[in-house]
Formats: sequence, structure tokens, C-alpha cells
Amino acid sequence: MSKPRTLSARTLAAQALGRIDERTRAIVPPIHLATTFERDPDNLYRSGNVYGRPDNETVREAEAVIGALEGASTTLVFGSGMSAAIALFLSLGPGAHVIAPGVMYWAMRNWLANEAPAFGVSVDFVDTEDLQALAGAVKPGATKLVWLETPSNPLWGVTDIEGAGRIAHAAGAALAVDSTCATPIFTRPIALGADVVMHSATKYLNGHSDVVAGALCFGQDDALCSRARAIRQAHGLILHPFEAFLLTRGLRTLDLRVRAAADNAMELASRLSNHAAVSAVLYPGLPHHPGHDIARRQMKGGFGGMLSIRIRGGPEAAIATAARVTLWKRATSLGGVESLIEHRASIEGAGSPCPPDLLRLSAGVEDVEDLWRDIDDALTG
Ligand code: PLP
Repeated sequence: MSKPRTLSARTLAAQALGRIDERTRAIVPPIHLATTFERDPDNLYRSGNVYGRPDNETVREAEAVIGALEGASTTLVFGSGMSAAIALFLSLGPGAHVIAPGVMYWAMRNWLANEAPAFGVSVDFVDTEDLQALAGAVKPGATKLVWLETPSNPLWGVTDIEGAGRIAHAAGAALAVDSTCATPIFTRPIALGADVVMHSATKYLNGHSDVVAGALCFGQDDALCSRARAIRQAHGLILHPFEAFLLTRGLRTLDLRVRAAADNAMELASRLSNHAAVSAVLYPGLPHHPGHDIARRQMKGGFGGMLSIRIRGGPEAAIATAARVTLWKRATSLGGVESLIEHRASIEGAGSPCPPDLLRLSAGVEDVEDLWRDIDDALTG
């Protein structure tokens, strides 16, 4: 017998692991909407399904695809990226100390700063891109989790996952990575030593700006994983089967979409670097970006679809530029097939480390010449 072949991410995703409906042979599995399941006459539940909150086959199908792409042993999907992350923080239990980056997705930073203490979780924010600062901030025995986001919103700083993992593990802490913007196509944090990978599946994994979802991928089916599963079940932090079906459908083209978006982002970043109206381009693919060398090492095949530009004319000029685009959509969020532009400081509010002259760009999969003309016209006024 020949050895089984290791299939590429593109193939695994395109066929959603090749699963078909056993009864009808349909190559697209049906959506299971049932909230309850029949018991066997001898009172057992041999199907493994009892009730809709913990058990849903359509949800498991999405989990299986994401888990295969990340190389995870267990994957749990949630009703949003925020609920996925919060389930993980709550899994640590009261008294836990957490390290998180100073620059990260703003709503998560706000939750950690303002809400986590009420659950007994204390948080220190450090520059995780500086491994010496990280090593100085972990408290051996007390620090239960080091949280990274790489590349991180909205400055696209890059953290060395392997190096951070060594520091976390030496202190007895787990390492979790918000890999929403890298996607499993470009970075596989578990292979680099992370214990948990988190995704806002609302972004690239679904990719069509029509599902809010989250995922936690665990390297080991360990105690932290069991706690997160129990918290998801008890708190009902679940994804509806219809959304799970859409998520699996979106995942089928993940590889194509993120490569197209990253190609567009790279081309736009290069052209914008020479634009008179732009004072800085923040994109890990550019050689002068401070995280470029690490990104080249840990991001395989592309630097992602997210970039930011700083506008020479200042905050008012940045807002006016966003007002002038006609093809790019002026909207928050990222990772969809359509390109988005956002004056980030307006949404992050007070206390944000985001410069007020910054526009965040989520490159979609449109023709790069159309995207360039629109942004160039808007910048030129
Ligand atoms: N992590 C990152 C990097 C994000 O950009 C977001 C949302 O914008 C989240 C987490 C939160 O995910 P969700 O909006 O799906 O709750």
C-alpha cells in the first residue's frame, strides 16, 4: 500500500477535507439545524450528539477544516473572535497573570484592561516585539498566558513566535497567538511553538464579510482546551450552524483569496511608499519595516493583506482622503474579498496608540490597477 500523501492547505481547504454526505453522496454536506437528538432505546447516546449547544455536525465540519490548516489537535469555533479569546482568558481561572501586547486589536485590549480584572485576571501590556522586554515582564509561576498578535493591528508590528514561546514556556506560561491577519496560509503558530491559535474567523477565514465567528485551535487536547470547551458550552458562546456552513464555504477559497490579497497589498505598499501625500507605509513585506526579517522567517509565502499609511497632511487630510475613495469601501473590519479603508483612530477612540494621521487598508482581491487608481486619486485630492 502506498503511503498517504500530505495534502497542501489549498487542497484540504478547497475540498473542505473531502467530506461528503454519506446517505445522499452529496459533495456538499447538508446544514444540520437540529437542537436535540434521539436517545438510543438503552438510554445511551451512541451518535455522540445530545443537545445543540455543545453538539453540531455542521460546526464540527468548520472546526475540522480550520484545525487541519493550523495543524491543531482540537479546534473550537465560537460566535465571534471576541468570545473565542474571552473564553480562553476565562479558562485561565482567577489569579492568573497575562501578558499582552501594547499594540493589538483595540476591543481586545480594552476588554483585557477594563473587564478582565473583574474575573480575577491581571494583565500587563508590553512590547512583545522586544523579546527582552517580554522576558523581563513574565512572572514565573504567576504568568499563565502570553498573548501575541502578529502582524498586529494597526501598525503591523511582527513578533517572533518561536522566541516568545521559549520565554513563555520557561516561565510556565502558555503561548496564544491571534493569527487573524497572518492566516494559516502564511503562518502556522503551533508549528512554531504556540499552544493556542486564535482567529477572528469573521475576517480571512470566512472572507466574505457576511459571518461573525471566532476560533481557538489547540496544539494539545489539554486542560486549557477542556476548560475552553466547557466555558463555550456553559456560556453558550456558540456559532449557529448556518454561519458554520458559510464559514466552511468561505474556507474553500482561503488560499486563493489571501494570496491574491497579499499580492495586492505588497504592490500597493511599494507604490504608496513613493507617494508624495504619504509620509509612511506600514507593511511587514517592505524591507525597511522593523519586523521584516522576522516576518520573512515566520510568514511563508506572503506578508498578508493588511497595511497602513500615514498621511503627510495630518489627521484632517487622512479623513478627507478616506472620504474621496469611490471603489475602496469606507468601513471597519478586514479580510473580505472587497478592499476597505478606515481612519483607525476614529474607531479606536481615546487611549489608542494609533496615530491620528493613519489610514488602515484591507486589500481585497480586486484588480490592483483599479485599487491603485482609486487610492491615488483620493490621495492626490
Ligand atoms: N482579533 C483581530 C486581529 C481582529 O481584527 C478582530 C476584529 O476586528 C478580533 C480579534 C475580534 O473578532 P470579532 O470581531 O470576530 O469578535
